[in-house]
Amino acid sequence: MRFVDEFRDAELGQVLAGEILSVVEPGRHYKIMEVCGGHTHSIYKYGIDDLLPANVELVHGPGCPVCVIPMGRVDDGIAVAHEPGVIFTCFGDMLRIPGSDGTLLDAKAEGADVRMVYSPLDALRIARENPDRQVVFFAIGFETTAPSTALTLKRAKAEGLENFSCMCSHVTIVPPLRALMESPDMRLDGFIGPGHVATVVGARPFEFIPASYGKPVVVSGFEPLDVLQSIHMILTQLAEGRCEVENQYRRVVPYDGNLKALEVLAEVFELRPHFEWRGLGFISQSALELSAAYADFDAEQRFPVPGVRVADPKACQCGEVLKGVIKPWECKVFGTACTPERPIGTCMVSPEGACAAYYNYGRFARERELV
Ligand code: SF4
Repeated sequence: MRFVDEFRDAELGQVLAGEILSVVEPGRHYKIMEVCGGHTHSIYKYGIDDLLPANVELVHGPGCPVCVIPMGRVDDGIAVAHEPGVIFTCFGDMLRIPGSDGTLLDAKAEGADVRMVYSPLDALRIARENPDRQVVFFAIGFETTAPSTALTLKRAKAEGLENFSCMCSHVTIVPPLRALMESPDMRLDGFIGPGHVATVVGARPFEFIPASYGKPVVVSGFEPLDVLQSIHMILTQLAEGRCEVENQYRRVVPYDGNLKALEVLAEVFELRPHFEWRGLGFISQSALELSAAYADFDAEQRFPVPGVRVADPKACQCGEVLKGVIKPWECKVFGTACTPERPIGTCMVSPEGACAAYYNYGRFARERELV
């Protein structure tokens, strides 16, 4: 295959749907978690769940980097943005994540100099152009985006930039998956493994899931045929009594990861002892902070940060959505008080959030179903 259209071929999709049907046991209910928000987006955008037998259920996991940022962390960012002389930079989704008293966009409306960037290198350019201002980059994302932050910090250090710092909220994927597997209300049959994270860490780190919990994992690409093939691979493992990590996304993911990226991550970051995840609570060693060699670029050491834990609004059920316990439409405020235009929770903000994906692509089908 050479072009992306070929990964969206409807006829091949029907063939794969038939093969999926041929490997499921009719009386058995299968629950498969797609870990990554990118997969959730593909599933709803292309109607992949409509091609599956009724007894194959897809549930959404915690792999949306914006969705897992807790309110207290947003408040910390807003506090830094209000510091005199600061230019606060972040990706577009972060601007709309609600903190306890508004968003970074609200802070901008109140006069804070908050700017959207497409890459940490944009933030570095702003720092070069404004030598009399302090430029802070609010870094979020899993291992997928952490290497670009790390390389930016290396460049800042090499250039001796003293007015650039990073508020690091990068998270790692394995600890929340382990926490999910330990959760007593979690009954899953297999995982569609996170293809983006795996381009950096490889497929090997997911071996603990079959080894310790007896569930298959298939690291998957993001096009509809990728996802369908991955579901077929998981169901085939279950039918054959196998349980292992397989790599459907071999055209991108090396089994052992991107060694150069892992090297730069090890140089620039170290694991935080604890980090709070929205809806999941504190998880040990689940996030990154700057290593001692890069401590001078740590915004949390340069500016006062409240660091206060803030409870989610009562109506918000993002935690249950992120754990796959409920579906987006089961949240009481889905599509009414909480919409992409006026989000209450994080899962409605990012396009990778399950609630936003479902709102944008799935709700019409659901509404039809209910008529
Ligand atoms: S509908 Fe809104 S509040 Fe409810 S889970 Fe989704 S994002 Fe959170």
